[in-house]
Amino acid sequence: MSRPAKMSRQLLKSLFMKPATINYPAEASGMPEGFRGKLKFNAKNCIGCKLCMRDCPSGAIEIIKTGEKEFQAHINLGKCIYCGQCVDSCLKKALEITAEFELASLDPEKLKVIFHAENKSSPGQ
Ligand code: SF4
Ligand code: SF4
Repeated sequence: MSRPAKMSRQLLKSLFMKPATINYPAEASGMPEGFRGKLKFNAKNCIGCKLCMRDCPSGAIEIIKTGEKEFQAHINLGKCIYCGQCVDSCLKKALEITAEFELASLDPEKLKVIFHAENKSSPGQ
């Protein structure tokens, strides 16, 4: 078969093939298993040992005592490299990795997230 004929055949075939891409962001994109996105803090499990802070390679997490057996996690998502080391270091399963990845912001202050003891989060000051 000649080259142009081969190309035409391939072109026709491609017209009826399912696209390899998705129409993001109009279509939601599911992340693969094991993907490391935004961290989640389960305050009720935290004992304030600060192993997560000690092991974080980018100094992105700070645990603050706010009361008797009550702790907040201050996480700078702009500094975090999403390595998951803090999750591995936490013996109390107080930190979790989620699949949330749409974190881009033009304001670096918005990337400083405070996870409160009541398991709510808010942008930092
Ligand atoms: S999140 Fe885990 S490692 Fe960090 S202070 Fe709390 S209990 Fe310790
Ligand atoms: S995922 Fe890595 S960089 Fe981000 S806070 Fe945890 S240890 Fe630090």
